[in-house]
Amino acid sequence: MKKIAVFTSGGDSPGMNACVRAVVRTAIFKGLEVYGIMRGYEGMIEGDIKRMHSHSVSNIIQRGGTVLKSARSMEFKTPEGRKKAYDNLMAHDIEGIVAIGGDGTFTGAKIFQAEFGIPTVGCPGTIDNDLYGTDYTIGFDTAVNTALEAIDKIRDTAAAHDRIFFIEVMGRDAGFIAVESGIGGGAEFVMVPETKTDLNMVVKSLKNLRKTKTSSIVVVAEGDEEGNAETIMQKVKDKIKDENKDFKVTTLGHIQRGGSPTARDRVLGSLCGMAAVEGLLAGKKNCMAGVMNHQVVYTPFEDCIGKEKPLNQEHLKLMEILSI
Ligand code: ATP
Repeated sequence: MKKIAVFTSGGDSPGMNACVRAVVRTAIFKGLEVYGIMRGYEGMIEGDIKRMHSHSVSNIIQRGGTVLKSARSMEFKTPEGRKKAYDNLMAHDIEGIVAIGGDGTFTGAKIFQAEFGIPTVGCPGTIDNDLYGTDYTIGFDTAVNTALEAIDKIRDTAAAHDRIFFIEVMGRDAGFIAVESGIGGGAEFVMVPETKTDLNMVVKSLKNLRKTKTSSIVVVAEGDEEGNAETIMQKVKDKIKDENKDFKVTTLGHIQRGGSPTARDRVLGSLCGMAAVEGLLAGKKNCMAGVMNHQVVYTPFEDCIGKEKPLNQEHLKLMEILSI
């Protein structure tokens, strides 16, 4: 293998730049030529591919977002789009690919590899932490800390006005951000898609809590089955029926994706990037380089996409115990 390419795809996450940097520098260290594909599968289809050097990735480790930019590509979901992508990679004699993204990105990579056979190793780049095969994904730690900072600030104003705040964090299918920011921020409740939310129990507990606490924080993952934070707040408000109680909703939104990555995300991104290149050189393909129990592990894309990563049960227990 002499030439490899790297791209970032799907939702961006803090630490992707550290990962790109590690891929580029490890490749050069190992004597490979390395190319950057802009805007994920979009750039692959358009042939927006550029040679990268060690200095191309200088001064980016501390930056959020991704210097290779990211996109969602409908055309890559078609055989014609993927053929165009393949032709462009062949024009540069690319023999291996590092794909940094989430489960959608790996689904595309798996299909592409089955069709055209270019070995691909993935790196887990998503804030959601919802990929099987790695303890944490690149960007999750930064997103949790961003959410936590916001929760701390909201706690101040909630306490000052004796309010009940519903804070919506990202997580369409996974509650990892909600649970960890909820524990860290001392939330009274966390609502996540993985577990059934019992609104009657929440209402009862909030009423009970009012005997000892005047303000409460409820963290809601955007994908909770009872609805988003606004909907849940309305349902709870209707059930509590207390004109004197003030309910507020804050949706944190895209601030959770941005910002300078934490040390953990920089280290994880760097480690996965290095491992992806080493994996390609060792003949690995169709798999993701992740970190479990402090060890680099390669997990088939099929498992990363298909197997569910459960929430930590101890974390859920903690939430219940500490919110009294
Ligand atoms: P995140 O978890 O942060 O949203 P992701 O990688 O899951 O990241 P997606 O938007 O789901 O983000 O996927 C990224 C891209 O992967 C899509 O825009 C599309 O180009 C490609 N992709 C996803 N599913 C398929 C598929 N079934 N066939 C081909 N390509 C796909």
